[in-house]
Amino acid sequence: MSPIELNKRQEEILRIVKGNGPITGEQIAERLHLTRATLRPDLAILTMAGFLDARPRVGYFYSGKKPGHDVTDTMNNMKVKDFQSIPVVVRENVSVYDAISQMFLDDVGTLFVVDKNSLLTGVLSRKDLLRTSIGSQDLTSIPVHIIMTRMPNITYCFKTDSLIQVANRLINQQIDALPVVEELANGLKVVGRITKTNITRAFLSLSESHEL
Ligand code: ADP
Repeated sequence: MSPIELNKRQEEILRIVKGNGPITGEQIAERLHLTRATLRPDLAILTMAGFLDARPRVGYFYSGKKPGHDVTDTMNNMKVKDFQSIPVVVRENVSVYDAISQMFLDDVGTLFVVDKNSLLTGVLSRKDLLRTSIGSQDLTSIPVHIIMTRMPNITYCFKTDSLIQVANRLINQQIDALPVVEELANGLKVVGRITKTNITRAFLSLSESHEL
């Protein structure tokens, strides 16, 4: 199996940490004029692949040892929490019209529906909304809970799940996005969103040709 190849940004991070470690993610981000959030996937990969070590409250430092992990190990270690996006949620009683507006406003393809306790009850895709729109109904008077895909038929994941597991679920269920949830006593709290775009970004971060 082939060793992991680093992209330009990852090489640069490695150089910064070699020269300045221990150094926090925030400080690395500052040097690269990027946000900490933008660097999260690269730092996760460098740590998982064994190039860097990370200590809480100290920062990243160069491990000094030759990375032993190959691409397969690294991919299996890529976790949802390092690649997830912010979820966009709507309440069950909002209209289809408002849900469509929300989708444009937040520039997402999937909305998650929650009840008054902010617990997950449904999912709305672009085509769910399109399907309703080609009927002749008044979209302002149809609440989304009528048309959404509802619990318990929702496929979800936890932030500790691997991206490979998520990719499998997206392909097997033929869907575009999963809510990232935390289990509470009375239901599932939505804490994130993971989509085909996040998986594509993760795939790209494994490639050496990825430009800054
Ligand atoms: P689109 O319908 O725009 O092609 P998807 O492929 O994501 O988008 O959705 C297909 C169907 O699956 C829709 O009816 C949608 O409500 C449902 N769906 C989307 N995401 C999920 C999910 N995480 N769990 C269960 N059903 C979902």
